[in-house]
Amino acid sequence: MSLDLFFDPKSVAVVGASRQKGKVGHEVVAGLLAGEFEGDIFPVNPNADEVEGLTCHPTLKDIGTTPDLVVIVVPAKLVPDVMNECSKLRVKAVIIITAGFKEIGDEGKRLEEQIVRIATRSGIQVVGPNCLGIMVPDKKLNASFGGDLPATGAVGYVSQSGALMTAILDMARANDIGFSKMVSIGNKSDVDELDVMVAFGADDNTKVIAGYLESITDGDRFVRQMEMISQDKPVLLIKSGGTGAGAKAASSHTGSLAGNETAYEVIFDRAGIIRCPSVRTQFDYAQAFVHQPLPPGDRVAVITNAGGPGIMTADAIERKGLTFAELSEDTIAKLTEALPAAANVQNPIDVLGDALPDRYEVAMDVVLADPGVDSVIVVLTPQAMTDCDETARAILRAAEKAPGKTILASFLGGAKIDDAIGLLRRGGVPQYDSPESAVTTLRVMNDYVAWRQRPKRVVKLFPVNRRKVEQIVERHIRRNVREIGERESKEMLEAYGFATPKDMIATSVDQAANIAEQLGYPLVMKIWSPDIIHKSDIGGVRVGLNNSQQVVDAYELMMHRVSKKMPDAEIHGVLLQEMCKDGMEVILGMHRDPNFGPMLMFGMGGVTVEVLKDVSFCLAPVTSQEAYDMLARTKAYQLLEGVRGREGVDIGAIAEGIQRLSQLVTAFPDIQEMDINPFVVGPEGTIPVAVDARISVEKK
Ligand code: ADP
Ligand code: MG
Repeated sequence: MSLDLFFDPKSVAVVGASRQKGKVGHEVVAGLLAGEFEGDIFPVNPNADEVEGLTCHPTLKDIGTTPDLVVIVVPAKLVPDVMNECSKLRVKAVIIITAGFKEIGDEGKRLEEQIVRIATRSGIQVVGPNCLGIMVPDKKLNASFGGDLPATGAVGYVSQSGALMTAILDMARANDIGFSKMVSIGNKSDVDELDVMVAFGADDNTKVIAGYLESITDGDRFVRQMEMISQDKPVLLIKSGGTGAGAKAASSHTGSLAGNETAYEVIFDRAGIIRCPSVRTQFDYAQAFVHQPLPPGDRVAVITNAGGPGIMTADAIERKGLTFAELSEDTIAKLTEALPAAANVQNPIDVLGDALPDRYEVAMDVVLADPGVDSVIVVLTPQAMTDCDETARAILRAAEKAPGKTILASFLGGAKIDDAIGLLRRGGVPQYDSPESAVTTLRVMNDYVAWRQRPKRVVKLFPVNRRKVEQIVERHIRRNVREIGERESKEMLEAYGFATPKDMIATSVDQAANIAEQLGYPLVMKIWSPDIIHKSDIGGVRVGLNNSQQVVDAYELMMHRVSKKMPDAEIHGVLLQEMCKDGMEVILGMHRDPNFGPMLMFGMGGVTVEVLKDVSFCLAPVTSQEAYDMLARTKAYQLLEGVRGREGVDIGAIAEGIQRLSQLVTAFPDIQEMDINPFVVGPEGTIPVAVDARISVEKK
């Protein structure tokens, strides 16, 4: 989908143009004029002869030619008529600024559906409704009511909130940030966030893609396309507000732990999207990505005229996991020669409080020439002798000589540094309010570089018994039974190469005693009922049964307890199960996100998983590396590795379990959620056991 008519129209009609200042219909025309749009502007309004000195046409037809772009600002109920007119005139691009559609409820929703039908039938692309409009500074196009055009720059911005866009415009002006294009997508009835970002991806004037999103229209397509776009250009997104679609009651642990937000984290990760917690950080990152080269490595040097802030920067570098650059002997020798004796010639390099611009410049030159330095953060405090403006100029000169290295500045202060900051920003050296923000930005850049260089994703396939699983799944779907019980869930897992404990069902106390003798001890007894999902909650699990008397007693007690706690449950008997050796209990699970697909979960704690919430997620299918990463992302990872004399567990075996689970849920899209809980893992070389499992299936 090309959006060229929106970004570079030769003529723009404004339907609903108004003479009355302050009305949206007036502001849009005034905006086009103030922006000095070079194409034709056609105001349309049957009740006016002219608007802002331009001839006004009663209807679109009266213009006498088909405008490239039509901006609609008439009241909502009139919009369908205007759309029909557009259709007759073969207009191809429409921005509907008018509000009062889907966002107001059912009536508005019907109206919006009506305009979408007209648009689809007539091949009209629609931006909006309920949006601020579009701005393209270098084309002098301001088809919006967002006020003055921003400066031309390299950031393409897409916003789902028009109001926020006005704030962003204002902040951008104050921070010397320019835009290639800004699009407010409003209700995104037709053109959505992905269409806009794909267009930005193909746009030579856009170097960095940024945006504010509340929802994503098509999750699957989003992940695939954004992964390709991120490979080329950094994508910085603010994502707010859950839609609630994923938050519906879930019966599995995985489902209840996988909120809507987790899905966004996971798919942003997969697609290489950089998530920004605020507009401020988005600007912090954007200015660096626009003006500075990507860091060739993670070794950072700090140059400062103040000891304290130098140490603060060094601390932040360590906290953020970047490397504190070690300067070469040659660099140290040159610094020693150039700087006063009291200066610190080790990283962080302290050029001292009385440093004039020349000291900064020589330090920058020497440090940037060191092959062991990938990026430099220059810190300045405005002390008595400091010449802020000239120092800024010196930094810009030094930066120009080192085009391959990332240089960020953090001038600390207020009024005294104001002009210098402007100089730096306009000269392409980003300035940060605090050294921490500069360091965070560097970290984000390094992560992006690492993501771009990630190895090709290869998903391992294990030999499995697919047919077996298919039979169980299909039978449940045919009979409309959503929950697959423990026994058959484990048969499915066995078919996919999981080990499970030996077990048998007993329907009477005598049979239980007999089976116990056959299986041998120690044993575990579990209540056997299609109505009970979490067995131990109601006293339906007894471990460590060592002889037939204990089995008999346990049977009777369990029947008594369970029937008291759940009088309506249908109880078929008990499952007697081989007791597995001690091990660590973890959970492997999957929850199918309605928008993004199968989210795999790994978590610590087995039965306590919902208390600890120490879990991590990844979108299936996973690679081996991604499976290992899921483990490493949990807080208790050290426990898996072994800590303080406690033996660790077979991490590779868990990673393999995750990949097998991934293969299962990828092959069977009808599996909606599942838990293997606990998955009991032992030391290196042992085979983990899927002790309990539950799977829900449903055709969607
Ligand atoms: P539920 O999750 O329905 O409460 P489980 O089958 O997961 O029931 O059992 C609860 C707990 O009992 C497990 O987390 C585990 O600690 C223990 N357990 C269950 N089965 C076994 C077994 N075969 N061997 C060892 N421990 C077990
Ligand atoms: Mg369980």
